[in-house]
Amino acid sequence: MIHNEERILILGAGPTGLGAARQLDRIGHKNWQLLEASDRAGGLATSFVDEKGFTWDIGGHVQFSHYEYFDQAMLEFLGAEGWLHHQRESWVWIRDRFISYPFQNNIHRLPAEDLDKCLQGLVAITKTPHPKPQNFQEWIHANFGAGLAEVFMEPYNFKVWAFPPASMNSKWVGERVAPTDLGRVLKNLVYKTDDISWGPNNTFQFPRHGGTGSIWKECADRLPQDRIHFEATVVRVDLKERVVFLSDGRTFAYDKLISTLPLTELIRMAQVEHLGPAAEKGLKYSTSNIFGLGLKGAPREELKTKCWMYFPESDCPFYRVTVFSNYSPNNVPDIQQHWSLMCEVSESEVKPVDGPGLLEEVIQGALNTKLIASRDEIISTWSYRAGYGYPTPGVDRDEALREIIPYFEEHEVYSRGRFGLWKYEVSNQDHSFMQGVEIVERLINGKSEITAFDPEHANAKKHPWPFERWTTIAR
Ligand SMILES: Cc1cc2nc3c(=O)[nH]c(=O)nc-3n(C[C@H](O)[C@H](O)[C@H](O)COP(=O)(O)OP(=O)(O)OC[C@H]3O[C@@H](n4cnc5c(N)ncnc54)[C@H](O)[C@@H]3O)c2cc1C
Repeated sequence: MIHNEERILILGAGPTGLGAARQLDRIGHKNWQLLEASDRAGGLATSFVDEKGFTWDIGGHVQFSHYEYFDQAMLEFLGAEGWLHHQRESWVWIRDRFISYPFQNNIHRLPAEDLDKCLQGLVAITKTPHPKPQNFQEWIHANFGAGLAEVFMEPYNFKVWAFPPASMNSKWVGERVAPTDLGRVLKNLVYKTDDISWGPNNTFQFPRHGGTGSIWKECADRLPQDRIHFEATVVRVDLKERVVFLSDGRTFAYDKLISTLPLTELIRMAQVEHLGPAAEKGLKYSTSNIFGLGLKGAPREELKTKCWMYFPESDCPFYRVTVFSNYSPNNVPDIQQHWSLMCEVSESEVKPVDGPGLLEEVIQGALNTKLIASRDEIISTWSYRAGYGYPTPGVDRDEALREIIPYFEEHEVYSRGRFGLWKYEVSNQDHSFMQGVEIVERLINGKSEITAFDPEHANAKKHPWPFERWTTIAR
């Protein structure tokens, strides 16, 4: 366990770094500092207001929580009145129509030829036992059959991940992909009913004002300001001397380092050459290009209650679009006159995009998919490119992490968070924040981390605080 005088340095003021800082503050450990490259807190969960007054997130952030601790923190930051609660309405736009998510249960809405393909595939998987899937593509075929794979799962997943499903592992799937139940599919087919994703337990919350970024701004504002350094860009980490170097020449010494920077960047900055090959092979990622369309008028009837929509087809570059004005009326300058769409386009080494031409492709895509009727509706556009957007759960990821994470821990460097730990399955805001909290609890109080090292358990239920499973680990 840590000595109270030991210096803890946190890199990054996204949800993970803020979770760590807040927990240190709560338990009275005074010797910590936080370094953040940007001029504000929030990381990928930051929000922006464009020149016309539209608020944007870096992609549609909806908040679910697996932790009572996180729920309490959210209430503390924004207060009960600061949150709006929504039913989660998600849809797939395909073959010129909306099909409610989970798609596989509602395939009766597909044209006959596609429906036939999907059903044949589903029947085939009940007849032939599949060996244990070795990758995400095999998992898709084993669980959905060849027809659903061809019609929806493969094109959609390539579009969102920017990597072929065969190059990804299937361990992250867990609660993220709804399973297929042939009985339900047939029942919905016979009775022409839909399974919908917005049942009583499918709600999420969103800040009333200021977008997702307002949460993390409030969190940072409550911390001792003299220990948070904005515009502090780390360029080198000396693992031996335990010193961090900034681009402006400042240095910070530490006893323990909590890094939330992308692991690939940490390896580079710490000049650990022998970890390079493992990182190169195992740590794949995609870039997220976000486009906001600020619109005049009102959404057409079909869009009025929708939260987000998936787009598997090639008539638009985006894989997902959020009706962001439905999340909060304050996301637009005047809800009586405006509405907004936020579109996400993935990019990777195997799925390049035409950067300068992408906005035009997005607008044409919005017209092709009937999200908007005319270009004249657009009164504002906004874009953001998150270089590190999605940590890809590639087939070689876990082997790479088994080599990299312990190496850094031997040097008292604890890499956590969405790209710090590279585990997509525990990389939402709640997971990230708790990874920060839990590493502090481990360093100060000897508690074991759950979110970082047992994602399945972390995602299995809502966890009380303190965690039921906590045991003291020997250090
Ligand atoms: C498109 C998209 C959609 C998402 N949707 C959701 C959602 O619906 N729900 C949800 O809960 N979550 C969602 N997320 C995830 C959410 O944004 C992350 O959980 C969260 O931001 C991760 O927090 P973090 O602190 O681990 O990392 P980050 O937010 O990436 O923070 C890392 C911080 O480190 C700083 N940094 C980087 N390099 C340096 C350096 N050299 N020196 C100093 N500082 C540095 C960065 O500026 C940043 O502030 C989404 C993310 C994306 C990209």
